[in-house]
Amino acid sequence: MKPQHWFGEIAVGLKNRCGNSLRKRAVPTRVSENWTGELERGRIVGNENTRVKIVVIGAGQAGLSAAHTLVRKSLEPGTDFIVLDANEGPGGAWRHRWPSLTLGKAHGIHDLPGLELGKPDPEEPASAVVSRYYGSYEDEFALAVQRPYRVTGVRSTRENDLSAPLEITARRADGAERTWTAQAIINATGAWDQPFWPYYPGIESFAGRQLHTKDYCSPQEFEGQRVLVVGGGASAVQFLLPLAEAGIDTLWSTRRAPVFLDREFDMNWGIDVERRVRERTEAGLQTLSVVGATGLALTDEYKRGIDQGTLISRGPLRSITTDGVVFAGVDAEAAGDIMPAWPGGHEHVDVILWATGFKPALKHLAPLKLRSPHGGIATDGARVFVDPRVYLAGYGAGASTIGATRTGRLAGTAAAQFIAD
Ligand SMILES: Cc1cc2nc3c(=O)[nH]c(=O)nc-3n(C[C@H](O)[C@H](O)[C@H](O)COP(=O)(O)OP(=O)(O)OC[C@H]3O[C@@H](n4cnc5c(N)ncnc54)[C@H](O)[C@@H]3O)c2cc1C
Repeated sequence: MKPQHWFGEIAVGLKNRCGNSLRKRAVPTRVSENWTGELERGRIVGNENTRVKIVVIGAGQAGLSAAHTLVRKSLEPGTDFIVLDANEGPGGAWRHRWPSLTLGKAHGIHDLPGLELGKPDPEEPASAVVSRYYGSYEDEFALAVQRPYRVTGVRSTRENDLSAPLEITARRADGAERTWTAQAIINATGAWDQPFWPYYPGIESFAGRQLHTKDYCSPQEFEGQRVLVVGGGASAVQFLLPLAEAGIDTLWSTRRAPVFLDREFDMNWGIDVERRVRERTEAGLQTLSVVGATGLALTDEYKRGIDQGTLISRGPLRSITTDGVVFAGVDAEAAGDIMPAWPGGHEHVDVILWATGFKPALKHLAPLKLRSPHGGIATDGARVFVDPRVYLAGYGAGASTIGATRTGRLAGTAAAQFIAD
C-alpha cells in the first residue's frame, strides 16, 4: 500500500439514534498521501475527483470488505475508487441497533479481511463494538469513506450501452448533490434502509403507535402500554423478553408457529442458511432474509421466556382496528407448544411493533433495470448477469456478516478484473 498520512479527526457521529455511545474517543482519519479533498469538522465530505474507476456504495461489512479487496488489487482509495456512505459515521446498520442488543446476543460478527475484531466485551452494545471496529478498519486501510452521502440514482451515461460509464448521484443531509462517473459500481447498501411493513385491513385506522425494528430503542418508551410484537425472527424475541422483564404487557403474533432449534448458533449453521438463500438469488427470485432464515436457537433465556408465557405466539393477524388487532385464531392442525390452538378475536393494544424484517435497499439502482421478471436480481454471488458494470455485495445469501465479507471480496475481485480488461 502507498504511504499514508493522518488527515483529521472524526469528531462527529459519536452517538446513535438511541443515544448510546458509539466511539469512546475521536480517532484520526487516515487517507493516502495523494488524496485531496474536503473535510468538514474532521470528516471526509468530498473529493476533487469526480471521475473514478469504481464507486463502492455503502460502508457496512460488505462495502468495507469490497474496498479492502480493491486496495489489495493496488487500486487507490480516493483516486481510483471512492466509498460513499449514507451514515453519519462508521458502523453500517450496526450503528443503529438498540442498546440491549449486546455483542453476546448477536449471532456473531465475522472478521473483516485483514483486521481481527478481537474479543470485545460481550456485554457491550453491538452498535458500539461494530462502529469502533469498522472505524478502525477504515483508518487502518485509509479507505477515506465519504459521508454522509446517500446515493439517489445510478444511470448509464449512454442508453443501451453496457460499456458506457455510469453516473452516480448522491445527496448530503443538507440537500447538496454531487455526481461522479465510474466504469463500475459495487453496491453494498444492505437492507436497514428498507424496512418491510406488512399490510393488514384497517391498518390505517389504528390510533395507537406503530413502529418498526428500525425505530426500537428500549422498553422504557412503552411504560404502561400493551405492546403487540409482530414477527417470528430473532428481533421479535429480543424485543419481547426485555419488554416483559420491564413489566410491560406484551402479545406476540407470528404467521406460523415459531421454530426454536435446540442447537448453538455457529458458523456451520450460517453457511447452511446461506446455501438455501443463494439458490434463490442465482435464479433471480426475490431474496429471502438470511436473518429470517436463520431460525431461533433455543437458549436458556428463551426457554425461560417460553415457560413464563412471553414467547407464546397468538398466531397470525386478520385485521387491525382503531384500538387493537383481530387475531385469525389457530386451528388444531397449525397449533403447537409455542402457538397453542385458540379461536382468535379482538385484543386491545396500544402499540404495534413490526419486527417484520427488511428488503434490499436498491431503489437507487432502478434506472439500470436490473430486476428479473421474478422480481430479484440474478447474480453469481456478486456479478449482475444483465449488466457487467454492476456488482452486488451483501445481497441475498450475502446478507450476514460472513456472507457480506465473502461477497464483498468477490465483488471487489470481479470489479477490479472488469476495469482492467
Ligand atoms: C436486527 C438484525 C440483527 C442482525 N444480526 C446479525 C448477526 O448477529 N450476525 C450476522 O452475521 N448478521 C446479522 N444481521 C445481518 C446484518 O445486517 C449483516 O450481517 C451485515 O452487517 C450487513 O452488512 P452490509 O454491509 O450488507 O449492510 P449494512 O450494515 O446495512 O451497511 C450498508 C451501508 O450502506 C449505507 N447505505 C444504504 N443505502 C445507501 C445509499 N443509497 N447510498 C449510500 N449509502 C447507503 C448504509 O448507511 C450502511 O452504512 C442482522 C440484521 C438485523 C436487521
